[in-house]
Amino acid sequence: MAAGSGAPTMRLFSWLTFLALWGVSSAEPGKFWHISDLHLDPNYTVSQDPLQVCPSAGSQLVYNAGPWGDYLCDSPWALINSSIYAMKEIEPKPDFILWTGDDTPHVPDEKLGEAAVLEIVGRLTGLIREVFPDTKVYAAMGNHDFHPKSQFPAKSNNIYHQVAEMWRPWLNNESVALFKEGAFYSETFPGPSSAGRIVVLNTNLYYSNNRLTADITDPSQQFQWLDRVLTNASQAGEKVYIIGHVPPGFFEKTRNKAWFRNGFNKEYLKVVQKHHGVIAGQFFGHQHTDSFKMFYDDAGSPISVMFLTPGVTPWKTTLVGVVNGANNPGIRLFEYDRATLSLQDMATYFMNLSQANAQNSPRWELEYRLTEAYGVPDASVRSMQAAATGIASDQDKLQRYYVYNSVSYDTTACGETCRAEFLCAMQEVDFDAYYACLSNSGAGPRLGGLLVLLATLLGLQALLAP
Ligand SMILES: [Zn+2]
Ligand SMILES: [Zn+2]
Repeated sequence: MAAGSGAPTMRLFSWLTFLALWGVSSAEPGKFWHISDLHLDPNYTVSQDPLQVCPSAGSQLVYNAGPWGDYLCDSPWALINSSIYAMKEIEPKPDFILWTGDDTPHVPDEKLGEAAVLEIVGRLTGLIREVFPDTKVYAAMGNHDFHPKSQFPAKSNNIYHQVAEMWRPWLNNESVALFKEGAFYSETFPGPSSAGRIVVLNTNLYYSNNRLTADITDPSQQFQWLDRVLTNASQAGEKVYIIGHVPPGFFEKTRNKAWFRNGFNKEYLKVVQKHHGVIAGQFFGHQHTDSFKMFYDDAGSPISVMFLTPGVTPWKTTLVGVVNGANNPGIRLFEYDRATLSLQDMATYFMNLSQANAQNSPRWELEYRLTEAYGVPDASVRSMQAAATGIASDQDKLQRYYVYNSVSYDTTACGETCRAEFLCAMQEVDFDAYYACLSNSGAGPRLGGLLVLLATLLGLQALLAP
C-alpha cells in the first residue's frame, strides 16, 4: 500500500482540527434567551391620581405608582426597555432568542383595534432588533396579539400577513409564506452542520376562548403539519424545540382551569407521546408564572417536559379564583448542548419591582438556577422528573417552587389546597388525569375552582382572560 508522504500529516491536521472543534463545542454550552408576555401598556403614567396610572388596571385604584411599573398594571415602556437591555448585559451573544408573545395591554378590544395591536407588536419587534441586531429570534404570536383578542382564524388574514412581514428579518422565505397562512413555521437552527430544528406553533388556534376554531378538528391543519415536520426530523436525525404561547394542561394558580379545548389537548398529548424521541424541549408562556409540566407515556415513564417562562409584565391577573396573582418581571436564559439540544441549565433573572421603584433603579438579578434550586445535574427529562418528585415529597422544595412561580413576589405559604393544585398541574396535562389527581389528593374543592367552572359553563370568557 503506497501512501504519499503528506498523508499522515494531513491526518494529524484533521484530527487536531476535530479535537479543537469538539473541544469548543463540548466545553462551552450554547445559550439562548426565552422571554414572554411583555404586555406593553403605552398609556402607563406615573400619576398621583390612582385612576389615571394605567388603563390595564381597569377600575382598580393604583396608588404610589413607580417609574418601572406597578403590580396592578401592564408594563410601561421603561420596564420593557430595561428588560431587553438587561438581556444584552447578562448574555449579549445568545445563539438565538425565543419570544412567545402577548405584547399588548389587558384592556377591552374597543380600546385597541387592529392598527393599535400591530403598532405595539411592531414597537417591541423594533426594540428587540435594535438591541440584538444580529441574533435570530424565533417568535410566536400570543392571544393578545390579535384583534379581537384570542380570535385567531384558521386561514390567512391581514394580521398574520403584517406580522410575517415584520418578522421577515428573522425568517426564511418558506417560513414567511407559511406564517401568512397560519402563523406557524419551522426552521433549522443556524450553524454549518446543525442538527437542531425549531417549531413555532400557533396554539391560539386551540385556546378555549377562540370561538372561530371551536368546531374544527385540525385548524389550519397544524397538527397534520406538525406530525409531518416531526416525522421528517426523526428521519433526518434532528432534535427539535417546540415553542408556542398558550400551553396545554392546567393553570396551577387555581383549580380546573385549562387553556386548550379538550380535543386539542388530547391531540397535542398524542403528538408528544408519538414524537418525544425528537422533542428536546418545549417552551411556552401565557400564564405569566414560572412552572413546568411533565409528559408521560402510557406506562407512566417521563418522556418530555414543558418549561413555562414568567412574564415581563407584573400585571395581577383578574382570572376568577386566583388570589393576588401578580409577579415580578422575569427573563430566562437556557444553557444547552448545541449538538444534541439537551438542556443543561436554566437561569431566571428578575427585577424586584417594588424595590426598583423604591430605589428608582432598575436592577435585574439572578433569581435562581434550576440545577441549584432542585439539586439536579441538568434540565433533562430525567432531572426534571427528579425535581418534580422532590417538589412533591419535600415541603421546602414545594415552597421554593411556589415562590419562584410568582418570580419571588408571593412568599406566603403553599398549603394543602395549593399543593394539590400545583402538583396536579405539573404532573397531569390530560384533563381526566388532572381531575383524578385532584380528587386523589384529598384536598377538598374550593370556592375559586367552583367559580371558574361556573364561569366556563356560563360562557363568561371575559372573566378568564390572562
Ligand atoms: Zn399574557
Ligand atoms: Zn396569553
